[in-house]
Amino acid sequence: MGIATINPATGETIKTFEPLTAEEIETKLALAQARFQEYRKTSFSQRSQWMYKAAEILERDQVELGKIMTLEMGKPLKSAIAEAQKCALVCRYYGDNAEEFLKDLPGSTDASQSFVRYQPMGIILAVMPWNFPLWQVFRFAAPALMAGNVGILKHASNVPQSALKIEEIFTEAGFPEGVFQTFLIGASQVESIINDDRVKAATLTGSEFAGASLAAAAGKQIKKTVLELGGSDPFIVLESADLELAATTAVTARMLNNGQSCIAAKRFIVLESIAAQFEKLLVEKFKALKVGDPMDESIDIGPLATPDILDDIDKQVQKSVAMGAKVLIGGKALEGAGNFYLPTILTDIPPNSPADKEEFFGPVASLFRVKNLDEAIDLANSTCFGLGASGWTNNPDEQDRLINEIEAGAVFINGMVKSDPRLPFGGTKRSGYGRELGIYGIQEFVNIKTVWIK
Ligand code: NDP
Repeated sequence: MGIATINPATGETIKTFEPLTAEEIETKLALAQARFQEYRKTSFSQRSQWMYKAAEILERDQVELGKIMTLEMGKPLKSAIAEAQKCALVCRYYGDNAEEFLKDLPGSTDASQSFVRYQPMGIILAVMPWNFPLWQVFRFAAPALMAGNVGILKHASNVPQSALKIEEIFTEAGFPEGVFQTFLIGASQVESIINDDRVKAATLTGSEFAGASLAAAAGKQIKKTVLELGGSDPFIVLESADLELAATTAVTARMLNNGQSCIAAKRFIVLESIAAQFEKLLVEKFKALKVGDPMDESIDIGPLATPDILDDIDKQVQKSVAMGAKVLIGGKALEGAGNFYLPTILTDIPPNSPADKEEFFGPVASLFRVKNLDEAIDLANSTCFGLGASGWTNNPDEQDRLINEIEAGAVFINGMVKSDPRLPFGGTKRSGYGRELGIYGIQEFVNIKTVWIK
């Protein structure tokens, strides 16, 4: 597939784009490098003013931005608009806090003075996915730019208009030309960019395959990477949980973004004694979901972003069923145009089936029953992923065990896993490494310089 906007609700190709040539890439890299030398010397307060302006533009244009995202990847318009608002939040957060996060850190040693100084690295490459076309980019760009770096973006090939809009927002906000540039390029053009000496580090959000390729290329050049990859987050419901609230949250947590979120709850692990009741609630709530045109304010679930994703999810469901899983609701694509898949619940999941071990990037919930907390924790930890986990219990000892024993970058108790600019975000195991957001996010792409003065 080339670089194009293709409406996932209809299959219609709206606009195609030519990838940058090698000469165009060189011109842009030269601009980024030249700009970095000046931009790194700007003050935090100047950068904050530009970042606050970016936040204002995001809020001013939230509906237009939302429509572009919905058109390109199919998320319901209301959540696309909310995504633009959340981007404004992360701009303000780092506008407010970057200087404090990166101030000199004194240490007590044999020197008369010793401290740590955080300095920008230079050009940082961001390879980003289509599922949150604005948010994934802003949560990288706001801290990276506030730290004095310059950013280049290789966005997913199916969201080129979102990608171009992001550069426009930073330019209109007043950031000097070249501080943030969008490169419309294919995946095969990424390696030559990471090989370029002027590019100092890279971050990627997406599949394991893409993450491993980028990290391998960067590793050969001794360059740092941050990877935010897939997840198969458990959602564990224990006896003392508020079942109604847990079931309502389960639907939101699974269906966010038409089910295409790395931190969506994917495996629902429920204690046997309450499983029948939870299952009934979940089926009722899935039945009530409206699938359809994502521009329509009343719908809950839009199409999947591409025909390939639709195909992948259906194959995973059919293979799980062939191995013995039962379909409680859904289990197939909608007939007609667009990449629509019905909200689906699978139960009686056989060990080692796709529903047991793989990430499902679509509106499919896998329901498991366990005898006790030990079994719940073992099952939760039994995948190669470790991004987030949600645990539902009002028992403090059980809460403590979930917090200590779940292998994940985040554990949320009595709530769904979500990203928040104020808290670090990232994974363990094959979900990736490094952290975005919070103080940790801004400290990923800086040189931590030790200073020692006799
Ligand atoms: P990809 O990982 O293929 O795409 C993410 C980004 O990586 C895109 O910009 C893509 O560019 C780029 N990319 C792909 N291959 C390479 C490569 N070899 N070197 C450098 N960059 C590369 O995700 P898909 O869209 O194909 O989705 C596949 C699966 O990935 C999903 O089903 C899901 O499991 C997971 N995923 C996870 C996400 C998350 O939030 N953690 C987000 C998206 C996907 P291009 O579009 O040009 O191929």
